[in-house]
Amino acid sequence: MECPSCGVDMVDFKSDDQTLRKCGDCGGLWVDVSDLNRMLLHHNLPGLESIGGKVDTDSLSGQCPDCQVEFVRVSGGDKSNPVSYETCESCGGIFLESDFQDASDFASAEKEIVAFFSTFSTKLKKKVSAG
Ligand SMILES: [Zn+2]
Ligand SMILES: [Zn+2]
Repeated sequence: MECPSCGVDMVDFKSDDQTLRKCGDCGGLWVDVSDLNRMLLHHNLPGLESIGGKVDTDSLSGQCPDCQVEFVRVSGGDKSNPVSYETCESCGGIFLESDFQDASDFASAEKEIVAFFSTFSTKLKKKVSAG
């Protein structure tokens, strides 16, 4: 699969039954929504639906390389640390555009993704840390 942002082939990181993809060029990560939800729940974060965020309809964020469908950009975090991800409503793929160059295998990529979404869900933190 090609990186939605640079068009270069992404590298697969595999666990037993999950696959992540990383772009060696921009450091972006691609993850399926079902795999993402499992990671979030596993780390005591709410699932993607509950994490919320604001759909940013104004920004053009590219196309899903698999479906040729326009991404929807969802923004979260707070003012001092805004973050956003792109999602394909057709296949449910999630593209994290941030720079995850440190992620070199599945475990480290998963760590980066969990850190990303705990920043994303800043407003929920109180609730989350109780669990
Ligand atoms: Zn890229
Ligand atoms: Zn898609």
